[in-house]
Amino acid sequence: MSVLRANIASMAGYVPGFQPPDGEAFLKLNSNENPYPPSPAVVTAVLAELGTDGASLRKYPCASSERLRRIAGELYGFDPSWVIMANGSDEVLNNLIRACAGEGEEIAYVHPSYSYYATLAEVQGARVRTFGLTDDFRIADFPERYDGKIFFLTTPNAPLGFAFPLEYIEDLAKRCSGILVADEAYVDFADENALDLVRKYENVVVTRTLSKSYSLAGMRLGLAIARPEIIAALDKIRDHYNLDRLAQAACSAALSDQDYFRECISKVRETRETFSAGLRELGYQVIPSHGNYVFAVPPDRNGRRVYEALFQRKILVRHFSDPLLSSGLRITIGTGAEMERTLAALKEIC
Ligand SMILES: *Cc1c(COP(=O)(O)O)cnc(C)c1O
Repeated sequence: MSVLRANIASMAGYVPGFQPPDGEAFLKLNSNENPYPPSPAVVTAVLAELGTDGASLRKYPCASSERLRRIAGELYGFDPSWVIMANGSDEVLNNLIRACAGEGEEIAYVHPSYSYYATLAEVQGARVRTFGLTDDFRIADFPERYDGKIFFLTTPNAPLGFAFPLEYIEDLAKRCSGILVADEAYVDFADENALDLVRKYENVVVTRTLSKSYSLAGMRLGLAIARPEIIAALDKIRDHYNLDRLAQAACSAALSDQDYFRECISKVRETRETFSAGLRELGYQVIPSHGNYVFAVPPDRNGRRVYEALFQRKILVRHFSDPLLSSGLRITIGTGAEMERTLAALKEIC
């Protein structure tokens, strides 16, 4: 239809991973969801917000999610003016592009990482550049000075699982004349994070999500930490009621229950190490992971074959047809029992 903007008419659109209908008997290890339920305090808070008759839903939620900015600010050691809440971190990634990259201006990211940045940029008519990785997981040919508007750095990297060292991220921040976004969707499963760089460099933004580490993918909750000038700009362009009442109740309860959070994280990390060791025993090459997933290459380097054999056994993992990734699989870390079942299946398949 000629009324469509040319870039929208011609773009392919993002294709998320396959989500089988709820209730299908798959062991679902393809979307990096958390195998544990959210904190019991989340359920209590959501039910309390809903009440017996749902009357609170008549009214708009708090537009600024003020309480959540306070809680998150306290948790991460920032004034609330450095925090913005988002309807999933995807929302804030989108608004960073809308705030900074106009038509024809450039954003960049690492390939392989999260290709959704490219889709978001295409919608704005921004140009997209990708940088490859060296064999030791540094960025290939990153210029002494990068002049694009935003450089998105997924760290820990998805789907590969390695994390860029902080000194390296700091060096990148110095070389970017635009914004360096550290997309820390998986950082709660890692050993270090880039929050100190937000304090130190005015062009560093950190984004987080509650989807994975807080088991709330179904609630759509994310946030960003950045200088107040950047936060103020993001506030101008977001949907003004971007977090609904139930999401705000869930978020505040989840962030406040750090004991439960730490317990889940340590279980996932422990299972990740056991599972990685089991894979290596089967002859798989496994990249040491800092996320809640591992990228592993089977002995015959035929990721597709193993994906299909697992699928037949009702275990769903992620296979990418991209030539850089097609030899391997990205497998989300489930519970200990789920990963034992997966290892047993892989043993049969090999
Ligand atoms: C899951 C993920 C996101 C999106 O998180 P949501 O909060 O669910 O929107 C962003 N970046 C990366 C790298 C992710 O894996």
